Amino acid sequence: MAKEGHALVVVGAGIVGLATAYSLTRNRARRVVVVEAEGAVARHQTGHNSGVIHSGLYYRPGSLKAELCRKGREKLLSFCQAHAIPFELCGKLVVATRQEQIPALHELARRGEANGLCLLRWLEAQEIVNYEPAARGVAALWVADTGIVHFPQVATALAGEVERAGGELRLGFRVRSLVPTAQGWRVVGTGGEIQARGVVVCAGLYADRLARQVGVGSGIRIVPFRGEYWELAAHRRHLVRNLIYPVPDPRFPFLGVHFTRRIDGRVEAGPNAVLAFAREGYRFSQVSPRDLWETLTFGGFWRLLSRYWRTGMAEMWRSLWKAAFCRALRQLIPEIRQEDLAGRGSGVRAQALDSQGNLLDDFAFAEVPRGLFVLNAPSPAATAALAIGEVIGKKALELVA
Ligand SMILES: Cc1cc2nc3c(=O)[nH]c(=O)nc-3n(C[C@H](O)[C@H](O)[C@H](O)COP(=O)(O)OP(=O)(O)OC[C@H]3O[C@@H](n4cnc5c(N)ncnc54)[C@H](O)[C@@H]3O)c2cc1C
Repeated sequence: MAKEGHALVVVGAGIVGLATAYSLTRNRARRVVVVEAEGAVARHQTGHNSGVIHSGLYYRPGSLKAELCRKGREKLLSFCQAHAIPFELCGKLVVATRQEQIPALHELARRGEANGLCLLRWLEAQEIVNYEPAARGVAALWVADTGIVHFPQVATALAGEVERAGGELRLGFRVRSLVPTAQGWRVVGTGGEIQARGVVVCAGLYADRLARQVGVGSGIRIVPFRGEYWELAAHRRHLVRNLIYPVPDPRFPFLGVHFTRRIDGRVEAGPNAVLAFAREGYRFSQVSPRDLWETLTFGGFWRLLSRYWRTGMAEMWRSLWKAAFCRALRQLIPEIRQEDLAGRGSGVRAQALDSQGNLLDDFAFAEVPRGLFVLNAPSPAATAALAIGEVIGKKALELVA
């Protein structure tokens, strides 16, 4: 098999890997090679997400999510403008449907302000219909900084920029092993072998598996959570002007089932969060014995389950029972009926879990000599990707200097 000169290898052509390669090529890194298991970019989380440009409302002030979401959002908007990628800053409504949620809604407003959002507006119950005529609640927060975009289009444009700057994209190259060498790494996979002076691993749903190979992130496991959504029938799309979200349960990093208008005009309801039986388990029937074994033999999973089994069962029930899913949606829009929910889709979130059963809330990275691993990059990582890419790209250049 042909061996080549030393490259900086980025594993994974999702939006985080591509944004990293983009940053590396802009910083004039020598020979950047992106390797991707699939035959095209953005085939997994990046290609199955809700398409929301998050504002930075939810995240703990001072966290990486809070900082990189705000920075990444600005960079994303400029990138879209420069590449004629359609986006809309349509704003969103976070609706409290019960009085007990009001303190949590106040807390969101406080976080939003602390994170630098300036266009927040508190709405009393009767004002909600001015923004979303079909929504009902006891109070709401209007977040003007939120928007929508098609992230695969952003990923494709990033890939184009990387190639234009002399970087290489190798599709159909699934990395099997990363072997340390005197000069860096031997990256071995289905597409051959690459001699690397440094690696940056942005492997999403497989992040932990590659990291464990080189002895990092051993206390962390990626647990795949499928997010399922229904599409509103075309004649009912008028029920949703833009984005309508519930007040999220602060115990979980998921936002609760919501309504999202996509940039192409479709309206989706969801996603929920159910345990997937395969890392790429987009349907209930997809089971990977290896993936499932890895989840079930991880102590952290059982600790998580012992705390939240009721929530897990309720999510599973809503997944299998359309009427139950519809009931959850009716809390936000009472006139939604089962017949309004037409096509179905899903995405799988790579959510890192620690051995104590805690879902890692923030973005997480780990360094080894000449290597950097993204261990946790869940939502809002698509929004934040250009800022994440800049941080880890710069770090990677320092590691190989
Ligand atoms: C249902 C859902 C809704 C979401 N909604 C939003 C949203 O509205 N807004 C937002 O900002 N974020 C959202 N997110 C989160 C966002 O999509 C992800 O955080 C982001 O796409 C992560 O990008 P990534 O590049 O890390 O991962 P991915 O897009 O999953 O890319 C990882 C890539 O690595 C490749 N790979 C894996 N292993 C190997 C290997 N061994 N060799 C070579 N290649 C490999 C995979 O094939 C894949 O292409 C959502 C996520 C989901 C699942």
